[in-house]
Amino acid sequence: MLFWFATITVFFLISFDIAFYYLLDNNINSSIKERLYNKAIYIKDNISNIKNIKNSPLDAYRIAIFRKNHIIYQNKKFSLTNIQRKQPFWIHDNGEYLKATLIHSFIEPFPGKIIIIKSQIDDEVENIMDTMLILEPILLLFLIYLAGKLIDKILLPIKSITKTANQTNIDNFLSTIPEPKESDELKQLVKSFNNMIKRLKTGIDKIDRFNNDVSHELKTPLTVIKGEIEVTLDRPREPREYIKSMQVIDEEAEQIKKIVDSLLLLSKYSKTNMQNSYEICSVESILLKVVQMYSKALKEKNISLHVDKLENITTKANQVLLETIFSNLIDNAIKYTPKNRNIYVSLYQNDKIHFIIKDEGIGIPKEKLCFITDRFYRVDESRNKKIKGFGLGLSIVKNSVELHGGSLHIDSKEGAGTTVHVEI
Ligand code: ADP
Repeated sequence: MLFWFATITVFFLISFDIAFYYLLDNNINSSIKERLYNKAIYIKDNISNIKNIKNSPLDAYRIAIFRKNHIIYQNKKFSLTNIQRKQPFWIHDNGEYLKATLIHSFIEPFPGKIIIIKSQIDDEVENIMDTMLILEPILLLFLIYLAGKLIDKILLPIKSITKTANQTNIDNFLSTIPEPKESDELKQLVKSFNNMIKRLKTGIDKIDRFNNDVSHELKTPLTVIKGEIEVTLDRPREPREYIKSMQVIDEEAEQIKKIVDSLLLLSKYSKTNMQNSYEICSVESILLKVVQMYSKALKEKNISLHVDKLENITTKANQVLLETIFSNLIDNAIKYTPKNRNIYVSLYQNDKIHFIIKDEGIGIPKEKLCFITDRFYRVDESRNKKIKGFGLGLSIVKNSVELHGGSLHIDSKEGAGTTVHVEI
């Protein structure tokens, strides 16, 4: 930046000097010419009285008056050398200093010529240019110094961002960069960078938590499987004992499969690939199909499922995810509702599609409501002990609804029941 600043400044200074030199030179030349011309007119007006000319304050000039190419008057200093008679005015250098010569022809009071020479013109242009040549490098150095300071000031936060960025890695999220006081673009940059660091940190924390949760959830069935195998292989056993043992292992393997399937489903779709998975779906048919799947579970607990409202709805959506939403919510309603109670569902459409499921189950404590859609969160392991689950159902529902651009509202009262409202 400094190099370009210096180059551009030098270029502009040189251009300015050249323009200034020509302007000043022209200006001074024409002012000398005008002065000499005025003197020539004065001499012409007083030519009849040569004495008057002699006594006038023209000492600084060399003057000659010609009549028919004969000198009729010349002052002491005048000599004819180097006179170019064809040029009326010119400035010439005699080696040490500048001279200006003006030849003025006239007719009145007789045809003649006046040659008037001014020697030792102060070379004002050269003097000014000399001064500028001394001052300008000083000015240039001063400007470069100031620009350097300014650039340093501007680049300081950028240097600090670079340093922090270099030191930041997945294991080490350094704290944020101090924000500059002035609210300018740099402050915005630092703010954005700090926000990015915070977002990354939250993301990494989430991944860490997720890894811990997954490992923990998979560890339990794996430990059971390992224990079962060890105990079974301890000594020779009856065939029926082997069968029983294999059944336990099969159940636990099924648990692992369910967890892995759920996790895969959560990561399979994203906002960017969602549109490609859309197909025309009949929403009420999907709901009825899922309800049918749960008829056995409903019968076992003698729970009545009432369909309050069921509209025919056709829309473009991801069929697998719609099925997942309905099945997880109906599954929860059945799981967390005691025997002989009721579940109510409604499906209707206005400007959006609404699915509401209300149960008369154990409900969710108010303070836990905000966590229940987190992955692997279960309200209370002790109350859930007999009820199977991994805490993934509601997080899958929330994700699926949001991937469809919708929202999920859960309202619950402990001991009274839960209402889940899906809006897409
Ligand atoms: P899971 O049911 O496998 O434990 P979910 O993510 O579906 O996981 O639910 C998270 C937690 O929210 C459950 O452990 C349960 O405590 C609570 N919950 C969900 N739905 C209901 C409901 N209808 N009634 C009472 N509690 C519920």
